[in-house]
Order: sequence, then structure tokens, then C-alpha cells
Amino acid sequence: MIGTAIQSLVEAVYPPQCAMCDARTAVEFSLCGACWRDTPFIEGLTCDACGAPLPGQPGTPDESDALCDDCLRVARPWRRGRAAFAYRDTGRRMVLRLKHSDRLELARVAAPWLLRAGRPLWPDRPAVVPVPLHWRRLARRKYNQSAVLAQRLSEIAPADYMPDVLLRRRFTAPLDGHDRDARFRSLDGAIVPHAVRGGQLKDRKVILVDDVMTSGATFAAATEACLAAGAAEVCVLALARVTKDA
Ligand SMILES: [Zn+2]
Ligand SMILES: [Zn+2]
Repeated sequence: MIGTAIQSLVEAVYPPQCAMCDARTAVEFSLCGACWRDTPFIEGLTCDACGAPLPGQPGTPDESDALCDDCLRVARPWRRGRAAFAYRDTGRRMVLRLKHSDRLELARVAAPWLLRAGRPLWPDRPAVVPVPLHWRRLARRKYNQSAVLAQRLSEIAPADYMPDVLLRRRFTAPLDGHDRDARFRSLDGAIVPHAVRGGQLKDRKVILVDDVMTSGATFAAATEACLAAGAAEVCVLALARVTKDA
């Protein structure tokens, strides 16, 4: 009772606010109507390998094995993939804030969207594994935004969160602006299973989590590392997918 009263008092003084703007919202850790409408959630028919939206009837059941042009051209080592929204508008701003502005509460807002996008590929109690950051980047940024997302996701889904089974052993410069081939060359072999904890992946079904998928080179390197550690199957889940029309 007292707790509820204090909560009401707190809400009266600090009413819940939209995670992306100053507007008030009915509940905490949510978006206002305007920010919600500006977030390009991926709905309808999607690429089964990366979750990019595909042209088709809106609301087409999400059970297709259709692939986008990228995934037809580049063989993906993982089995299936999805993304919550396209990397533009509020979707892009949210990813940048999560990555650079210490706005970790955004992961709590985004976790249900990740889960909704990942439902079609969710196996029985998967290992949820974030794409690792190199320790030098981690030291500078202080947190791995993909690990924060993966942790929040595994709090609301039947899953085992495994934050330290993969290692980034090579420091790679930011890949913005690089073409696809350069990204794949730069990431090849850059991620490995942890010498001891990587053993936890043996025979597990894995959901790899990252904040953004661009070319898929990072997911490919992380997938190879999971498979090298004996994972039974790997699917990938990104908060945002960079699409050509973005
Ligand atoms: Zn808002
Ligand atoms: Zn695709």
C-alpha cells in the first residue's frame, strides 16, 4: 500500500515521459503516439534471413521463406533472422542514443519489440548471445549496447542470457561507409568463442542479438564463432535493419 502511494506520488511529481521526447505518456518505458508513428516498425512480409521488409501484401503471414536481394546474393551462415524496425527516422535516432548517450532505459523500451520480431524464430529456451565489442571500444563506451538489449530481452522471454561466450579479438575501425566486401574482409575471423565459457554454446540453439544489421558481416563472424563452439543452430535478431530505401 505504502509502496503504491509512493509510486503515485512519484508519478505525480515526475509523470512518465516518452523515451524519445518530452511528451508525457501513460506508462513508463514507452513512446508517445507521435514517436511511435515515426518508428518504422517492420510489419508484413519480411526476408526470412535478415528481417528486411519485402514488397507484398501488408499483413501477409510471417511464415515465408522469401529472401531479400542481399540475402540471395550473400550466403548467410545463420539459419533465420529478424529485425524490429528499419534504421531510419525515430528508429535510427533510438539506436544512436542507445549507443552513444548512455540512454540504457531505451533497451527496456525496445526489448518487447525485439521479442515480437523474434517470435517466428524463437526456439525452446535459446541461448541469447550479444555480439561482443572489442575491449578497447568497451572501455571507451563503458557498456555494450547489444549486451544491454540481449539482457533486457532475456528478462522477458524464456532464454539463457550468455554475455561472455564470444570475444572480439581484433579491433576493427568503424565500418560506416565501407562497402560490403570491405566489411566482410574486415570482420572475417574477428570474433571467436571464449576459450572456456564458449563451451556453454555446445549443442545450444542460439539467438544472436545486435543493435544494427548493415551488411551482415558482424552477424556472420559471430555466427561462425558460435558454430565453431558447437552451437546446434544460430538465428539473428537486430533492433534495426539498414535497408536500401532508408
Ligand atoms: Zn515522443
Ligand atoms: Zn535478407
